[in-house]
Amino acid sequence: MNSVDLIHTVLDIGCINMIQNDTIAAIATGMQHSGIGIIRISGMNAEEIADKIFRNTSEKRLSDYQSHTIHYGFIYDNDVLIDEVMLTIMRAPRSFTTENTIEINCHGGILILKKILELVIKNGARPAEPGEFTKRAFLNGRIDLSKAEAVIDLIQAKNEFAMKNSIGQLRGFLFNKIVELREKVLFEVAFIESALDDPEHISLEGYSEKLTSILDCLEKDIDLLLESFYKGKQLKEGIKTVIVGKPNVGKSSLLNILIGEEKAIVTNIAGTTRDILEENILINGIGLQLLDTAGIRETEDIIEKIGVSKAIQIAGEADLILYIVDASIPLDENDEQIIEIIKNKETIILLNKTDLISVVNEEELEKKVQKKVISVSAKEHKGLELFEKELENMFINKIISYNDQVFITNIRQKNAIEEAKESLQMVRQSISNNLPEDFYFIDLMNAYTCLGKVIGENIEEDLVNEIFSKFCVGK
Ligand code: GDP
Repeated sequence: MNSVDLIHTVLDIGCINMIQNDTIAAIATGMQHSGIGIIRISGMNAEEIADKIFRNTSEKRLSDYQSHTIHYGFIYDNDVLIDEVMLTIMRAPRSFTTENTIEINCHGGILILKKILELVIKNGARPAEPGEFTKRAFLNGRIDLSKAEAVIDLIQAKNEFAMKNSIGQLRGFLFNKIVELREKVLFEVAFIESALDDPEHISLEGYSEKLTSILDCLEKDIDLLLESFYKGKQLKEGIKTVIVGKPNVGKSSLLNILIGEEKAIVTNIAGTTRDILEENILINGIGLQLLDTAGIRETEDIIEKIGVSKAIQIAGEADLILYIVDASIPLDENDEQIIEIIKNKETIILLNKTDLISVVNEEELEKKVQKKVISVSAKEHKGLELFEKELENMFINKIISYNDQVFITNIRQKNAIEEAKESLQMVRQSISNNLPEDFYFIDLMNAYTCLGKVIGENIEEDLVNEIFSKFCVGK
């Protein structure tokens, strides 16, 4: 049995109480009028239920057909014709849930979909809970928890990074990484145990040095995963971005170009409710969550307009600051203050109005602030492609190169990995305190268990239910 099978076996044992095999059904496609809609049925009686409502010109029953075949026919409620459909048969264990699964592709009208679902339920299925198909795939050992979480992330992906990362996780990038780390930990656990059992043949002489270097490697990998969380989360949810700069430098002109719609200004007349506090945009597949855009557009307060107090207030929560400078007027004390605020923050400086005679030079500003400066002109729509490139360099290329595509973007996974790291640090402590090897054993085993939580091993029923309740019905 390889490690993957082993983990699945443990998963099965750990979750055995949660497994249900009654037959569930749901509308798997969106609840809106569309060309095609899909009703999904999964469980022991899926085929039998479908047989009661599906007819075609042949005399065959569904059980006469091979698995993984699709059939043209009609759905009937007794003798009343409901719809013309295509029906797919996927028998256990070769389906998403590993159970017998039937999918009915019908016409995508909400009424038809509801009608067929009701018919399926009348004939013996029960309505599926949110995420129950994926939950079954997990409980039946078809996917681990990190893959199940990737399914929901993929459905909810707001940008290209989130989409690619979820697909990577779905393909098992994170699962494989966790399995690899756990195997290394388990090897040491087994070694210590054997040596303690059989000291005559297996010596622990010099083992603590060897273990220290193994801990170094393990912690390095774990740190990479933890580091990936912050950038990964930013990329998944949109990089929190704040635009700062003095009045009249072109903040709102640039904002409008980025958002791509002039009308936002008009709908936001000063004095009305400040309803636009943030706007989400996509630049080359990277999501930016622009914070306090209403402030840029509406405020009449001169201090606010200068952007300094605003910058202090929101720079703290921003992942990225876009600092706009007017190239046609000299820097003043307000700029000095802003430069002080952005010192330790990821910042891109946009040197605007470069269509006019410049008094601020790109190289000199770059030298002064020690940040990337990009010359642009909002008026002539120039230089923004360089800004897009810089964003890509800052947020995509940097992290992809350091972490080989394994990102964690989920707080539950991050907490489990952090706990594993703490346990490894306890092993280090035991080594430096010259404690006996049994102590290493306990903490290594803890690290192994914590890493297991990432992929869903030994997690409690309540947590499993909570995770899957966030899914949509039909997934
Ligand atoms: P904000 O106060 O920083 O939001 O600045 P605005 O976007 O309202 O722009 C102030 C003025 O500068 C407006 O008259 C804009 O038309 C003008 N402006 C903005 N960007 C440019 C630019 O790149 N070149 C020139 N020549 N004028 C610009």
